[in-house]
Amino acid sequence: MDLRFTPEEIAFRHEVRSFLRSALPPSIGRKMILEQRITKDDLVTWQRILNAKGWAAPMWAEEWGGTGWNAVQQYIFVEELQQTPAPMPLSQNIALVGPVIIAFGSQAQKEFFLPKLRNLDYWFSQGFSEPGAGSDLAGLATRAVRDGDHYLVTGQKIWTSMAHHADWGFFLVRTDANSKRQKGVSFLLIDMKSPGITIRPIVTLDGFHHTNEVFLDNVRVPVANRIGEEHNAWKYVKYLLGHERTTLAKVGSSRARVIRAREVAERLIVDGKPLGDQPRFREKLAAIEVELKALEITTMRVVDDQRKNLGTSQDPKGSILKLRGSEIEQALNELFVDMAGPHMIPRQLDHLLAKASEPTIGPEWAATTAASYFFLRAATIYGGSSEVQHNIISKAVLGL
Ligand SMILES: Cc1cc2nc3c(=O)[nH]c(=O)nc-3n(C[C@H](O)[C@H](O)[C@H](O)COP(=O)(O)OP(=O)(O)OC[C@H]3O[C@@H](n4cnc5c(N)ncnc54)[C@H](O)[C@@H]3O)c2cc1C
Repeated sequence: MDLRFTPEEIAFRHEVRSFLRSALPPSIGRKMILEQRITKDDLVTWQRILNAKGWAAPMWAEEWGGTGWNAVQQYIFVEELQQTPAPMPLSQNIALVGPVIIAFGSQAQKEFFLPKLRNLDYWFSQGFSEPGAGSDLAGLATRAVRDGDHYLVTGQKIWTSMAHHADWGFFLVRTDANSKRQKGVSFLLIDMKSPGITIRPIVTLDGFHHTNEVFLDNVRVPVANRIGEEHNAWKYVKYLLGHERTTLAKVGSSRARVIRAREVAERLIVDGKPLGDQPRFREKLAAIEVELKALEITTMRVVDDQRKNLGTSQDPKGSILKLRGSEIEQALNELFVDMAGPHMIPRQLDHLLAKASEPTIGPEWAATTAASYFFLRAATIYGGSSEVQHNIISKAVLGL
């Protein structure tokens, strides 16, 4: 196993880095560094810049606008995006539904949707989780009844990220009323403007409107909007969840946070000397850096498997990356909480939204610390909770 990058890969990294740094609009870059919320307009603007360069959907097949990069180049690209830091292209479009349409959609669906997904002309949201079906997704109850060349869809989804921005959603629905668990489920693309859809906001602990409840009441969906075969969505779900493996570790973002923590600590005077020189702080930061290094090495093992085409979508290493990546993200955030001390003011919402006319209470870097702290409680829940990742690792890696 070779965990080093080749000279060509290092040259590629420099090319990506210099493009990202020159192309990212400064207003978006500033929000990213200060952990302020990126608006819909910001994300659309940035994704269109990437798309114009041909880099909005690197992992897609070239014929549909992908880059033709190998797995290592794709990993380097994501790491550089995270480290700049620049927003990732909208994952629902690029990492989730796009690959499913490419692999299982009809020619007409590919031609219609893929260019719009890449350019963020259509914003997609993910309608999988339900009040009774999260970790145990196979318990989903939203039903779709066939009515000629339409389905009538009724049910409730929950935690649907950014559904209030969405033009379309990809939904899991039960098309066979007598089916149980993974059987009899279909994968539908639904126009979010369809009559019968109601979106109700869920404001998360950070005070921000990020997730939603989505109610569907006899929503008419053309059968032509189904991806693949009727009742066979589980195959597509497994394919979808197997994507985005190495990005889950968020190594680039965490590395950028470590650098930022060190910068802040060097300037922050506590008890008459810079926090960065104090043993207790240095010990905490070093402990996180050691964990991050270990995660980076694990990530490189996955990348090396991919380089040699050994990786599979069932590889449990993806669970290790998600588990450790989210824990390190939380630990780094907690370090900022410590540094902010009394300036961790819970509600500086205007600063979170980059709309403030008043100066921050306390240093600028601390203004979003509380919001990040509260929101990041969810990092060990979404994308598969830590307990669920532990179960996968214990079964698939330890054979328990
Ligand atoms: C911020 C945020 C954004 C999200 N965005 C989306 C989205 O866009 N689209 C979407 O479809 N979903 C989304 N989700 C939903 C997310 O996928 C679910 O919250 C997640 O799958 C957990 O499901 P649940 O909330 O129903 O919790 P449950 O599954 O009810 O779990 C509750 C607790 O029990 C534990 N648990 C569950 N099963 C087991 C087990 N077998 N063994 C041990 N412990 C277990 C869990 O770890 C958790 O601690 C989002 C969630 C959040 C918080």
